[in-house]
Amino acid sequence: MHKALPTRTLPPLEQWSSNEWRDRYDSVMTPQYGERRIALVRGEGSRVWDADGREYLDFLTGISVNNLGHCHPKITAAIREQAGTICHTTNLYYIPRQIQLAELLVRNSFADCAFFCNSGAEANEAAIKITRRHAALNHRTGNPEIISMTGSFHGRTIATLSAAGPGKHTQGFEPLVKGFTRAAFNDLDQVRKQVNSNTIGIIIEPVQGEGGIHVAKRDFIKGLRQICDECQLILIFDEIQCGLGRAGALFAYETYGIEPDVMTLAKSLGGGLAMGSMLCRKHIATAFTPGTHGTTLGGNHITAAAALAYVSELVEGDWGPKAALQGAKFEGLLTERLSGFKSFTEIRRRGLMMAVELEEKAGEVLLECELNGLLVNVTGGENIRILPPLNVTDEEINHAVDILEGALKSVFAP
Ligand code: PLP
Repeated sequence: MHKALPTRTLPPLEQWSSNEWRDRYDSVMTPQYGERRIALVRGEGSRVWDADGREYLDFLTGISVNNLGHCHPKITAAIREQAGTICHTTNLYYIPRQIQLAELLVRNSFADCAFFCNSGAEANEAAIKITRRHAALNHRTGNPEIISMTGSFHGRTIATLSAAGPGKHTQGFEPLVKGFTRAAFNDLDQVRKQVNSNTIGIIIEPVQGEGGIHVAKRDFIKGLRQICDECQLILIFDEIQCGLGRAGALFAYETYGIEPDVMTLAKSLGGGLAMGSMLCRKHIATAFTPGTHGTTLGGNHITAAAALAYVSELVEGDWGPKAALQGAKFEGLLTERLSGFKSFTEIRRRGLMMAVELEEKAGEVLLECELNGLLVNVTGGENIRILPPLNVTDEEINHAVDILEGALKSVFAP
């Protein structure tokens, strides 16, 4: 039942239960996210609380956003301070925190230059645009094509949907944008066959997130680098989900022993605020001559301050390698406790990015986890996706393993 909404002011959060939030949502919001059960109102570290006061272990981290937990003191302090100083001025003026952030990212990666925007899709748009423009400026005219991988996800704008290719996300949104062809993930021969005189680049998630945590093989990635070198193609790594510590290193590409030419980041980059970035080498960066690309809000004072605090902590705390150690422990425990279940297929993992694949009923397992205080989600079929904070403790991992095992027991009880 709806409570009557006051005309001018909204009531405090505490007056509404999760169910009441659902009713209010249904009457005023577009319905693309489907039904959910929980309204979250507070977070601290690995824990969150819902509108009914229930506590959860957050092992989804807002889909790899709150990578150092909720309300990290350094990020919170940076946001508070910046909010009281200056929040937004546009990119028509220099933004000191943005420049510092670019310096930090450049110092710690292959890249020479950074562009900041508001989301992952926008970062990939920038990557696609700069790849096309670089090719055009280098007389690669005709019908430029970028090769992408099957099972990939690059965002929800028309161009990034087109990059990932036709499928459930594109139905009803046609026509898609031209200029993308696809090869099977981890199949180097197929990629080689796709390369022709129109090819200008290759885009890949080194660890596919939305597709169900599929890890690119080392030889495959090395082979892609070789093809790009031989044919003068731009290699774009979409590290929006797997970058910034999640894959067990500051950037996933480091785990392969090669470097891309362009890399996109988003999700955790803004420390919980909306931010994306396209990083690249200098000779590619110069393709964005003045007036060719831009954004109003991207990388403004407040998001840049939050991102600077987050990335500094990530680098200083060396959280990527620590996440790899916790990930290995987590996988070991889960394998031990779940391998007796008939419907358990496998665990796939890189760093603290993990999927437990089941034969069926992943949705029911998810619901059981939620009821018992663990937030995870289902992706790419029957995969339970687990993305804990990078600073997760052993105790929290043990607790999550207990809940997951209990959920499987309850769903698959004879
Ligand atoms: N690329 C990858 C690998 C992603 O996982 C996502 C989001 O899930 C995106 C791009 C799009 O990011 P955003 O939702 O911020 O536009």
